[in-house]
Amino acid sequence: MRDFLPEGWGVQGERGIAFVVTGPSGAGKSSVISELLRRDKRLTFSVSATTRPKRPDEVHGRDYYFLSEEEFERLLSAGELLEWTVYQGHRYGTPKREVVDRLAQGKDVLLNVEVRGALAIAGAGLPCPVVLIFLVPPSWEELVRRIKARGTESEEALQERLTIAREEVRHIPEFHYLVVNDRLERAVEEIQAIFVAERRRITRWSE
Ligand code: ADP
Ligand code: 5GP
Repeated sequence: MRDFLPEGWGVQGERGIAFVVTGPSGAGKSSVISELLRRDKRLTFSVSATTRPKRPDEVHGRDYYFLSEEEFERLLSAGELLEWTVYQGHRYGTPKREVVDRLAQGKDVLLNVEVRGALAIAGAGLPCPVVLIFLVPPSWEELVRRIKARGTESEEALQERLTIAREEVRHIPEFHYLVVNDRLERAVEEIQAIFVAERRRITRWSE
């Protein structure tokens, strides 16, 4: 490829890209992401910090860093979070090193954050493109069915997550891609197609 490109030009896949997956709780973000990570060894997952309690099948350091309020506060005041938010009374944040260090190694970083976090990451001045992907289920009925099937939320928490979701989908026009997670396999393939296209973008390196 180098033989054909003028000096200072390349394709984006030669360096890191940040891919952000957002969508209502229950859309299937975690399911889709774990499959993408299994299939694509160039991707690394940005493990967020959170003060929410661990779910039974979650692993500290793989799904989240499960922190106490004090530990989260320490990260925040040390300036170690790229962005953070409060969701259902719990704090969630992206540790800078999860993103910045990996990008510097030329890896692609995959993030699972809610709408405000996604837009904050896009505006954080990262030295790479930030690709914003919004994942939706095929219908509101299916969203409710999935959250119930996961069995991790009380009825009250479910209703609150749906209220948040209605607000979140209003921001879809601020994203780059919309993917419907009807069949998991198809959603994963569509996101892989986005990865291929974004890595093939012709770009001029600034330095
Ligand atoms: P999120 O991370 O967006 O909150 P999850 O990945 O936890 O969502 O998925 C919510 C529930 O829906 C889980 O029980 C998961 O197994 C299920 N699920 C995810 N994708 C699909 C799909 N395409 N079809 C049916 N069920 C799905
Ligand atoms: P859950 O409790 O279902 O794992 O996540 C709740 C919401 O928090 C989801 O929308 C998820 O994308 C979001 N989230 C997870 N980690 C982060 C983070 O580091 N920053 C932000 N802003 N949101 C996050």
